Amino acid sequence: MPSFFDTPIEFLKGVGPRKGELLRKELALFTFGDMIRNYPFRYEDRSRTYSIGELSSDMHAVQIRGRIRNVQLAGQGRKKRLVAWLNDGTGEIELVWFKGVQWVARKVHPGVEYVVFGKPALFGSKLNIAHPEIEPATRGQQTAGGFHPVYSSTDKLRNNYLDSKALSRLQHDLLQEAYHKITDPLPPAILNTYGLTTAAEALRHVHFPTSKDNLAKARYRLKFEEFFFIQLKLLSMKQLRLDHFKGEVFSNTELLTRFYEEHLPFTLTDAQKRVIREVYRGMKSGKQMNRLLQGDVGSGKTIVAFICMLLVLADGAQAALMAPTEILAIQHYNGLKDYAQKMGLTIALLTGSTKQSEKKTIRQMLAAGDLHIIVGTHALIEDKVKFKKLGLSVVDEQHRFGVEQRSKLWQKNQHVYPHILVMTATPIPRTLAMTLYGDLDISVIDELPKGRKPIKTIHHYDAHRLKVNGFIKSEVGKGRQVYIVYPLIEESEKMDLKDLMDGYESVCRAFPDYAISIVHGKMKPQAKDWEMQRFVKGETQIMVATTVIEVGVDVPNASVMVIENAERFGLAQLHQLRGRVGRGAEQSYCVLMTKYELSKEARLRVETMVRTNNGFEIADVDLNLRGPGDLAGTQQSGVADLKMADLSTDGKILQVAREAAIGVMTRDPGLIQPENSALKGYLEELRKSVVTWSRVS
Ligand code: ADP
Ligand code: MG
Repeated sequence: MPSFFDTPIEFLKGVGPRKGELLRKELALFTFGDMIRNYPFRYEDRSRTYSIGELSSDMHAVQIRGRIRNVQLAGQGRKKRLVAWLNDGTGEIELVWFKGVQWVARKVHPGVEYVVFGKPALFGSKLNIAHPEIEPATRGQQTAGGFHPVYSSTDKLRNNYLDSKALSRLQHDLLQEAYHKITDPLPPAILNTYGLTTAAEALRHVHFPTSKDNLAKARYRLKFEEFFFIQLKLLSMKQLRLDHFKGEVFSNTELLTRFYEEHLPFTLTDAQKRVIREVYRGMKSGKQMNRLLQGDVGSGKTIVAFICMLLVLADGAQAALMAPTEILAIQHYNGLKDYAQKMGLTIALLTGSTKQSEKKTIRQMLAAGDLHIIVGTHALIEDKVKFKKLGLSVVDEQHRFGVEQRSKLWQKNQHVYPHILVMTATPIPRTLAMTLYGDLDISVIDELPKGRKPIKTIHHYDAHRLKVNGFIKSEVGKGRQVYIVYPLIEESEKMDLKDLMDGYESVCRAFPDYAISIVHGKMKPQAKDWEMQRFVKGETQIMVATTVIEVGVDVPNASVMVIENAERFGLAQLHQLRGRVGRGAEQSYCVLMTKYELSKEARLRVETMVRTNNGFEIADVDLNLRGPGDLAGTQQSGVADLKMADLSTDGKILQVAREAAIGVMTRDPGLIQPENSALKGYLEELRKSVVTWSRVS
């Protein structure tokens, strides 16, 4: 049944077909409901009268009150303008009109007191206000006003008498009629528990606030609602998965105990232990586990993955680990091989460059169940690769894999989906993770192994190169190794390569006594490997490279990372690069080299790197700088539909809204209780408009 709010916009009094068309085209307002949800983007504060002495050009429009001292016509012909000087005892400001000069001149008189509203701007060295609103001051006006909404408009709309003011009038009339028809999609219990104002009140006050306080309450409520429904949607997707996808129960801790007692190479951090417990609980639940494991570079995800594998291996199932690049796959394989061998488990590596004959053997062993652990790249998801019984799929660095590639890995089992552990070393801010992956369980390793010395990060301008070179010499003198990284960004690859080669030459000149490796993406794989190996073995002291070393190399003896043109790197990348050092026992350093003139953002990035080693903090700054739109996956998640809420600043509200949504889903998973019927209806509306559900595994 169509409701009042579905009424087409042209039926709003004062709109009509022509303006209706414009509102549809320019602002995508189709119905009364759309109109009511077209929120102001800011407010003019008329609750307060400013004194002229405190005005500055960076203020929005303000209200002032004073006496006109003098009025004058100035200029000739087209340049004719009317100037009036307004004085309130604290100062004087020029009011200027270029249009309607005659008309204004009749209204504005010296010696009379006026209330004036407009935006102060700097003209030369003096402040003025062009085309202010002006009205004679009358008694009682002192407190009139409050907050006036300002709506987005366009030139087309303005030319057709639909400026912010006009939109505000339409909104006002619409609200008069709509107010009593607004039903609240949130059940009363939630309003009570979270102290939220009703939908009707929130909508009224978001358009026409009568105080700062009720505006804040209205905005809070509307943000909450947006987050709440995204969360409810994600959670109901998760519920759907739980209802339909059974998971094999794995609870045999025999191998795990033996590993703990006989082979554990170090004490696990509390965070590692907690994550293992969370995974264990998931794998014995009888439901398919879908878990995102976030952990900063070096937080020790590899051993956690191995221990989780032991849980499924103990029950005769197999485990797979998929990495996005060959280098990473090899590194994982090397990391796991020792553990596996000590435990008498079989393990193999399968990548694009594995020999055909070996591939065949591996496939046979996997199908027969003779191979316990397989590590590899995309090669793992080829159809030819079959498992006897895949119990756990670990996917590293998930953001480099497409959704489809991942889901292929989970379809490797015939009847029951394997459990999934997705690991990422690029921390996603919590707020974003909850929104993008709210349908996954999330585990976080938020602690580094004890005894790590935090990497010291230093910023130097290019002019200080000699000093930096001296520092490199002293570190190499102590037996350490050094990375020097140059940016290589695809668009300007040729130039960057030249930068790199020039850099390499000057490094060779500066350090004639050292052996120096060079590695970049344009080299043949064999040549690259050979150079890498020389560095790994300690035959070279300095490695000059592009960001190809971002992932993959693990050289504990390398303790200095110099990043050239650091202003050209994004925060996530800088953090990943820095993670290449600090792996050994020695004090490590990261040196950020930049030119002298930096943009505001580049400076903030550099300062952030110098200030903190915490990947989550860095991710938060990154989110603030770039906005969530730049991050993968935001389209599907509903983040793009946020009108009021802002992921980078409203994390707290998101958290509360998620808690509320979890509460509802726990008490009433199918939303069949009468008090949740409005919720259910609203959710179904939302679903109709959701295009992809592809992230349900
Ligand atoms: P990442 O999370 O970046 O994949 P790794 O799993 O590669 O981190 O671990 C980084 C290094 O820290 C490895 O050399 C690993 O052996 C070591 N490590 C992991 N956990 C611990 C721990 N609890 N105590 C000491 N060292 C650890
Ligand atoms: Mg790793």
